[in-house]
Amino acid sequence: FHVPPAENEPIKSYAPGTPEREEVLLTYKDLYNQKVDVPLYIGDKEVRTNNTSSIHPPHDHQHNLGVYHLAEKKNIEDSIEAALEARKEWANLPWEQRAAVFLKAAELIAGPYRQKMNAATMIGQSKNIFQAEIDSACEIVDFIRFNVEYMTQIYDEQPESDSSAWNRVEHRPLEGFVYAITPFNFTAIAGNLPASAALMGNVTIWKPSDSQMLSAKVLMNVFQEAGVPAGVINMVMGDPEMITDTVLASPDFAGIHFTGSTTVFKNIWAKIGANIHNYKTYPRIVGETGGKDFIMAHPSANPKEVSTAIARGAFEFQGQKCSAASRCYMPKSLWPEIKEQLVADVKSFKMGSPENMENFINAVIHEGSFDKLAKYIDQAKKDKDAEIIVGGNYDKSKGYFVEPTVIVTTDPKYTTMETELFGPVVTIYVYEDDKYEETLHVVDNTSAYALTGAIFSKDRYAASLATDILQNAAGNFYINDKCTGAVVGRQPFGGARNSGTNDKAGSKLNLLRWVSPRLIKETF
Ligand code: GLU
Repeated sequence: FHVPPAENEPIKSYAPGTPEREEVLLTYKDLYNQKVDVPLYIGDKEVRTNNTSSIHPPHDHQHNLGVYHLAEKKNIEDSIEAALEARKEWANLPWEQRAAVFLKAAELIAGPYRQKMNAATMIGQSKNIFQAEIDSACEIVDFIRFNVEYMTQIYDEQPESDSSAWNRVEHRPLEGFVYAITPFNFTAIAGNLPASAALMGNVTIWKPSDSQMLSAKVLMNVFQEAGVPAGVINMVMGDPEMITDTVLASPDFAGIHFTGSTTVFKNIWAKIGANIHNYKTYPRIVGETGGKDFIMAHPSANPKEVSTAIARGAFEFQGQKCSAASRCYMPKSLWPEIKEQLVADVKSFKMGSPENMENFINAVIHEGSFDKLAKYIDQAKKDKDAEIIVGGNYDKSKGYFVEPTVIVTTDPKYTTMETELFGPVVTIYVYEDDKYEETLHVVDNTSAYALTGAIFSKDRYAASLATDILQNAAGNFYINDKCTGAVVGRQPFGGARNSGTNDKAGSKLNLLRWVSPRLIKETF
């Protein structure tokens, strides 16, 4: 099969004086002063209900950006009906047509919609331009381009045939519809979860996060303009429990593509189990959930590389990444040097609104997240086995700002070594150099998650030992690199244990979950 070769979308620099910097700032201002009205997208209709919620930037929570509409049960039932109606044609459309629609969406994002996607992500999710560009301009484009290529690889894989029997496989979409629940932290994930299932011929009900309304609307408009037919991706918001219960009550529910919290995912899994006798087909369950991701250094590591990895891995995107470094294990011999550098780096970070491009740290997503972080920081201030070496302040008067905070603990099982905080707080445990192997077992046993992790070591035996002992501790394991920043097409992303089903975002494995192959044997 022949498709345009997948290439990673180049990241623009946004250096002072560049046209992209000017353009995104203008788009930002424009969007900031508009009032958006985000409807439900059901089939070919934009549905506005009597029930709305308002949208605020996390870094300026008194500023009103408009509203989004909340669905009633009837709207969700309508969206299921619209999806199933659309399925009749979409599921039988030649794959080239589906691929073309999504490749067009990728080009729209890489080109005319780029700064609108970035500005919406900066304002709505409080990301600086460099982070928005990676997410809402490049990663979503990469997901689409690479998934198109993976799709053709899947279609290409055929069983052996001979002159008397022709064996062929049709990679049919699932019989029913796919439910996509997406998080606030990556616009790319929000787009990819419905789009990857739709690319394989499925129809979807998409529930974006309440905290991602601005960029969700832009994404939906891109899909429409690219020619995704009405009903193939339906976007609904509202009471999450009502939406999920209504969706899961349908006998045509055929799969869930989820990124979000472990608790929510497990509850959904249990509900699917409780409904199992009602479904026409066993639903596919694909989820990426929490993380408690680690960076460990061996005494042979380069201290400067380690401190940079911690600063970037823990604090980029305000630590609001499933992959963010949140527990670190440092050898005593290197710690003074790593500490000095890390504290200096963190002190140099400016915090504030993303409109000012000097601000590396922006606000955390909402008050719930802010309060949770503040609670753990306060606890660390009191606890004898914890010490805050930099950061520790927070202020929600204008926006939900939490300083990047480094806690050092003498207890490797200290609460913030185990609990996912999803914010700019990292906890460090300093181990005795001769306890390297023992500490690797502690890393493995401390958290119920297994998403990402990193080992820094110049000593090959030590790196190998870590790779072996930590074989189940991280779905994405990095040697001499930070534990974040997986690139589509290079590092397929996902974790196991409580971190998810490990069906690697941006991979053939993931797309295979959205097909129900039919083998046809024909004899002559
Ligand atoms: N893919 C991202 C990374 O490697 C993380 C995505 C997430 O937070 O879910 O950093």
